[in-house]
Parts: sequence; C-alpha cells; structure tokens
Amino acid sequence: MIRLGVHTSIAGGLHRSLERAHELGCNTLQIFCHSPRSWNRPEYSKEEIERFVSLRRSLSLSPLFVHCSYLINLSSPSPDVRERSIGLLAFELEMLRALEADYLVLHPGRAVGQPLKKAIELASEGIKRAVQLTEVKGRILLENTAGQKGDISSEIPLIAEIADLAGPEAVGGICIDTCHAFQAGYDVSTGEGVKRVFSEIKRYLSPLKVELIHLNDSKRPLSSGLDRHEHIGSGYIGEKGFCRFLNSSELKGIPLILETPKESIKDDIRNLSKVKALLEAKDC
Ligand SMILES: [Zn+2]
Ligand SMILES: [Zn+2]
Repeated sequence: MIRLGVHTSIAGGLHRSLERAHELGCNTLQIFCHSPRSWNRPEYSKEEIERFVSLRRSLSLSPLFVHCSYLINLSSPSPDVRERSIGLLAFELEMLRALEADYLVLHPGRAVGQPLKKAIELASEGIKRAVQLTEVKGRILLENTAGQKGDISSEIPLIAEIADLAGPEAVGGICIDTCHAFQAGYDVSTGEGVKRVFSEIKRYLSPLKVELIHLNDSKRPLSSGLDRHEHIGSGYIGEKGFCRFLNSSELKGIPLILETPKESIKDDIRNLSKVKALLEAKDC
C-alpha cells in the first residue's frame, strides 16, 4: 500500500498534527516538534506525549517523520552556532524517541564561506556528537538540498561523504526532495533523471536507501539553485513530470510526503488528490 502524507502543523497541541493528517486521509505524516525558526526547546508534559503516542497508534499513521529545525547548521564557522546546533539536534533526537517517531529529517549544513571539505567534516562531526549524546542511533535521514550558496548536500556524492564520515550508527538513510533535486540539476521530470538519482544513490550510498520522498513542484527552472516549492503540477516539474516520477519503479514502497505551499487546508486536499490521480494515471 502506498504511504502518502503531508507535513502537518502541531498548532494547538502535538496531537493536532495527527488529527489533521487523519482528516486529510493520510496514512503517514511529517511534523516539526517545535517552531522550526526558533532555538527554544519546548517542554512537553508526559500527558501530552502519551496522548500523541496512543492517538498515533489508534489512527495507524506510519511511518512518522520529524523534520529538524531550519536553524540547525552543524557546519557553521561559528563555534557557538555549532554547539547550539548540536544541542538542538540532540533535543530533536530525544523528541524522536519520546514520540516513538521513525526518522528525523536533517539538512546537514551550510558552509558559510568555508571550504566544502571543512564544512562536510564539521557537519558529520556534529551529527556524530548529537547521536552519541542521545544514543538514538540510525534514525537521521540526510535530505538533499537545492544547491543554494553554501549548500553542502545538493549532490548525492557529497551527501555520501557526510554519511560516511558520520558513520552507520548516526545516519539511517536518505530523504530525496523532488524540488531540491530539480533545482540542483537532477531532472526528476524525466525517466533518465530519476534513474540518475537512484543509480547515484546506489553507487555512492549503498547500503543506505531512500526512506522518504518529499513531493514538491519547483517554482524555479532546472538547476536554478533556489529553494522555492510549488503546488504539484503547477511548477517546472509539471504534471507530466510528476506523472512519470510517481510511476517510476524506483519509488516502490517509499513513503511520500507533501511539503507544498499551504494557505489553507484546501491546498493540501488539492495536492493530495492530484498525486493520487497521477499515481493512477495509465499513460504519462
Ligand atoms: Zn527539508
Ligand atoms: Zn523537503
């Protein structure tokens, strides 16, 4: 059975994200466990956590993905930012354990003017330390990024270097974001582009696998290096591109999560039904 979900909000309480996903007809979901643009680490009560865990069980929402804060930059040149990032990553790993979530999605880091090699070493060292602090092992998914200035994870061989240095106890797999891949020059709207992504993953990352796909269309053209998400079918990947992508054999069994723009719940409903229709399309 295809696992299809949406990134849902925890506004109003952690459990509300599960209710929202269930109301949308999803069988998996992704959440932030706190505001992604704040260093604050909220303290959740035991009751709130228990409520979340038991509701998730009763709604059969699985797997559960948590996306890391956007502020985390493990390869920052500032020792202070690096320490804060490791602390926040450790907090997110602890939350993952408390919520009984499956995977934590991480953008490994930004070089901010440093040589790439140095930034990659710092990112993997930071990942390793957060995992050692928490003993939550093999739960981090490294997400490919769009290739914005300073990105250290827009190319699959670079993600492999980070995973290698961090070690198998730290990294559990890869998350591929369609919009980021497209903006970084992987043309996922074509069969050859999809093959390239999966063969590079096999070549450089094996035995790690893609455990999650973020479905987003791209507001910007191929290789733009700018991270701008669009509704499915309305961007440069387009309806035909998504039809080909969603029906490629490489995707079999990998959970799909939408991170498309959202002004109201109607946007999620529309994007979900678009994906379902394309998954059933006979001819792309
Ligand atoms: Zn992300
Ligand atoms: Zn993403």
